[in-house]
This record gives sequence, structure tokens and C-alpha cells, in this order.
Amino acid sequence: MKINVLTKEHKDGRVFVSSLIEGNNINERIFFSVPEEYGQYLVDEVDDAFICALMLPALVEGEDIECINVSESIRYHFDTIIYLFGKVFGYPPIKLKPENVINPDFHPTAVCTGFSGGVDSFATYIRHTSQDCPDSFKLSQLCLFNVGAYGNHYPNTYKYFKEDVSRALAFANEVGLPLIDLDSNMSSIYTQKDIYHFSLRLIVCLSAGILALAKLFKTYIIPSSGTIEGTHFSRWDQGYYENLLSQLFSTETTQIFIGEADLDRVGKTKLFVNHPIVERHLYVCAADVQNEKQGKHYVKGDYPNCGDCFKCVRTLLALDFLGILDNYADRFDLNKYRQHRDDYIFEVFRDYREDPFKNELRDLILSTGYQLSTTIQRRLDEDERTRRKIYYRQRIKSLLCRLKRMLAVWK
Ligand SMILES: [Zn+2]
Repeated sequence: MKINVLTKEHKDGRVFVSSLIEGNNINERIFFSVPEEYGQYLVDEVDDAFICALMLPALVEGEDIECINVSESIRYHFDTIIYLFGKVFGYPPIKLKPENVINPDFHPTAVCTGFSGGVDSFATYIRHTSQDCPDSFKLSQLCLFNVGAYGNHYPNTYKYFKEDVSRALAFANEVGLPLIDLDSNMSSIYTQKDIYHFSLRLIVCLSAGILALAKLFKTYIIPSSGTIEGTHFSRWDQGYYENLLSQLFSTETTQIFIGEADLDRVGKTKLFVNHPIVERHLYVCAADVQNEKQGKHYVKGDYPNCGDCFKCVRTLLALDFLGILDNYADRFDLNKYRQHRDDYIFEVFRDYREDPFKNELRDLILSTGYQLSTTIQRRLDEDERTRRKIYYRQRIKSLLCRLKRMLAVWK
């Protein structure tokens, strides 16, 4: 795949840096754009952001990446990253073929994190604005990227992105931190099945956005997906090896870190105690995306969060068993939650073995001394009996099949 010469242009109050990407199955202009006042920070000296954006699509297509300028850091780490992705996704490595390797003369100063208003964002905001945070890690800037989290069809992603930007802006204005929104159509090149979903390319896509603004970000904190001891390689979720990747995508002048890798979801929610700003701005809801992509019918009504989707429910349970639920009466319909509370608790105790988030919630619920009601316990027992029946039925079926095969051989 070829990254052609970068062009920078001003349009409708924004600055765009773009390149025509050419490959066996692609011929598309990919851009990153920021508001006019941040245009000076948009990188067009090196192709690093575009190289990150193309790494997985090029790997899957088996095409080397040709480009004009690359920073020394990305040139240095490219082979290691591609070797790793090749192993994780099951493809032979590709090469980077730059015309020039340069040491960019950037002098960024901002300490930034992405802010979407969810549990991860707030935990990173609280920790990185606290008195305990070392000065060089204190936030000076918030941002929001459209690099894949909103889906792969650009017109749709832009709509959801703008809604999130307006919510994040209300928060940023209240806390007095500038917010920069970085828009991109890069997710539209992720058409191949093996790399279609955002979770499996989370860090490489965020890194593309970060490196597009390498002249602004000295330190970029990505809120953790989980705790560090869960680190392993997974082709389904880059969050599992985010601590490794963040270092490989860091450059001479932009350091990428994973924040709160010592806190699970419940641990992060505990930070909300005595932080009324969270009560005014918490937004965790996945209803819009789930309604569109999975045909769900979650309704938000008069509240910002639907209270029914998996993200809302797990947040409500955590707030409930931390004893701070009533503080969120403006963010969720708490009456609706309380009507279904027993069902949600039942699901936590039914599914905790397969779902790490439910496992955390179960530990939290048990730590409060909560006793399961007889109704919930009866439902769990019944569910367990059904599961066992299905298990033994399947075992008998497979044994009969084996027996049939053996008899056929003897005949
Ligand atoms: Zn929701």
C-alpha cells in the first residue's frame, strides 16, 4: 500500500491533513482533521499516523507499506510491531519502505487523555488532576477521537462522534480544560473480516490519532481496558496487550501511557465517591450503537443513559453496591433500575464465571454482606440444573456418535 504525499488544507473552520492511499483493493483519500485553532499541531512532516492506520489492513492484504517520511521511532519499532501483529493475527510480516527516515523537530507540551464521559474516562480524569499525581502527568488537555469506536461507515461515525463531542465539551468547559476533537475517516479502510471490529485494533487506531497530533501531545494517557495482570496476546481485543503496544507506538517526543492499569471497573467506580462532577456528566450508555448494530430497542426517555444496555446495567449495579446510586438520579431512571434489580443480580451470579466484569460485581456485592433472596437462589438453582442437563445431553450424544463410529469400523 502506498501513502502518497500528505496535503494540508483549511475547510469550514477545520484543518485537514490527508493522503491518497493506493493498494490492491483500496484507492481512497484518508484524512485527519482538527478545529482551526489546533491546525498548527496537525503533523504533515512525517507519515506516522497514516502508517499506523495502514498497518493492519496492509498486513491482512500482504502488501508492504510505501511512504515518504517516517520518524526514527516508528521506523525502529515497525518491524517488531508487525512481527507481533503477524503472530497475533496469523499473517506473514510485511515491510515498511520509506523514502526518508527523519528525526522530527517537535516540541509538544500537552498532557492529554481521551474523554468520552464513561467510567474509564472519569477515573483517568480524577487521578490525573489529583494532588497525588506527579506534575508532569497532570492533564492540560482533553480530546475525543473518531478513529474507529463509532463504527466503520464514516457518515454514521461522524453523527455519533459529534454527539459525544458536545457532551465532552460541556464537561471540559465546566472543569476549565480545553477539548480538541480529532475527526478521521480511517476506520472506513477496515473492511476485512479479521480486523473489522474496533476492539481488536483499539491501540493501533488510537495511536494513529495520537501521532496525527504529535506536535501537541507530549504525554498521552489512554485509560486502561483492564488491569495489567491480565496481559496476554489476543486477536479479539488489543486491550489485553495495551501496556506493551503503548510503548511501541511512543516516539522521540510523544510518550503514550496506559492509565489506571491497577484498577478494575469497580475500582475505577470507587473513585467517583465525593466527585459531584461525575454525577452531572456520567455517560456510559451503549444504546445508540447497540440499537443500530444489534437491532436492540433500548430507550433513553428523559435520561442521558438508557439504564438497560449492558454498560448502563453494570455501572448501575456498581453505583448501587458502592452506596452512591441516588446521586445519579439525573443520569439514569432509578425507578426502572430498581424494578429490574433482582434480574440484574441474578444475571451477575449466573454469568460471573464467563464475564470478568460480572465477576468484579459479584465480589463487590458479596463484600457488602448482601444475601441472595430465596427467589434469586431458586432461579440460580434452576438455571444450574438446566445447564447440567444440556451438558450431559451433549456428552451422551458425543459418546453415542463415537460408539457408532467404532461399531462401523468393527463391521
Ligand atoms: Zn444504556
